[in-house]
Amino acid sequence: AFQSATAHAGLIRAFRSVGRETATLRAASEDLRARTMSILRAAFLTSAVLEFFASISIALVAVYVGFKLLGVFPFSTGETLTLAEGLTALILAPEYFAPIRRLSGLHHDRADGAAAAAMIAPWLESASQAPAITRLPKRTAPPRIRFTDVALAYGDGAIAVSGLSFDAAPGQIVALTGPSGSGKSTCLLALIGRAQLREGKIEIDDRALAPGESLAESAAFLRQAPWLVEGTLAENIALANPHASRAAIDTAAKAAGVTEFAMAHAAGLDRRLERFGQGLSGGQKQRIAIARAIVRDAPLWLADEPAAHMDAEGEAAFIASLRRLAAGRTILVATHSETLIAACDQVIQMPSTEHRRASA
Ligand code: ADP
Repeated sequence: AFQSATAHAGLIRAFRSVGRETATLRAASEDLRARTMSILRAAFLTSAVLEFFASISIALVAVYVGFKLLGVFPFSTGETLTLAEGLTALILAPEYFAPIRRLSGLHHDRADGAAAAAMIAPWLESASQAPAITRLPKRTAPPRIRFTDVALAYGDGAIAVSGLSFDAAPGQIVALTGPSGSGKSTCLLALIGRAQLREGKIEIDDRALAPGESLAESAAFLRQAPWLVEGTLAENIALANPHASRAAIDTAAKAAGVTEFAMAHAAGLDRRLERFGQGLSGGQKQRIAIARAIVRDAPLWLADEPAAHMDAEGEAAFIASLRRLAAGRTILVATHSETLIAACDQVIQMPSTEHRRASA
């Protein structure tokens, strides 16, 4: 190590970069110091450490009071202590150190709050700048969706899709396919007012969708995996429709195949999920998403790479329920999956980026 260090020192001198290397080293060590201190600070404030010190402090008070009352200190402590005083001190000791315990709790709450705030800040910012969205009233019948030479973009940004035309009839499952970044998600988002129409027109049942109009009230959005909250399976399904009756939830769970795996546990649909649905497979999570879409009673389903986190078996089950539930719904699916594409009624190839550049 010494030899290699001297060799390096020679190199550094040869390139006359002693000053630069010193500055780099100084900056690196300063950075390391700052990071170490912040880790130590966090570690010391963790409840375990603070609890430990609070307990030790209480124990020390107890030891002192006990030894004092027994008179076993071999030296003078400069005070006298009666039994009543000692007992009072002992009873009050936990209360005296309680703020340390509270501090650790507060510190954790603060850290959680800061992390959550950092996560939602960009969203809040973009939400305040985004154009106003008008939610069209909820439809009961599945809509016909027609795109004619559509170009879409986000805000003032570059065109994300252009030259897209298709016609999705009620009751159909339509696959939108193409490489990543070809604008599949953007098409789905345009229907809920999250992407702006630059060219062409989008018609819903022969009525053009005006800028900012959203079909969100009539739509269910299926993503790669549903967002699961702490609570029971039934509660997670009901998230899509707080007014859903228990019977409606049961029916949806059965139709989506949730009941099938829920019955493995005694609690059934009342089984509590672990945090973020840990322990459930991708296919099982997606079944919960389908159950949600059913209780939401949405005639339009927008699915964005719904089969991405599933194994072949899960995907086959997913496709089977999609096919079963397609009647009475219009379903648009953005996907790469060959198996899923093969099961769709219509396959729309997204226009290539070359086309986009030519028209932009
Ligand atoms: P796909 O779903 O086919 O992978 P996307 O619709 O996600 O494609 O993306 C299409 C284009 O739009 C890409 O060039 C992407 O960078 C851009 N894009 C996607 N989301 C946003 C957004 N929120 N803001 C601006 N541009 C976006």
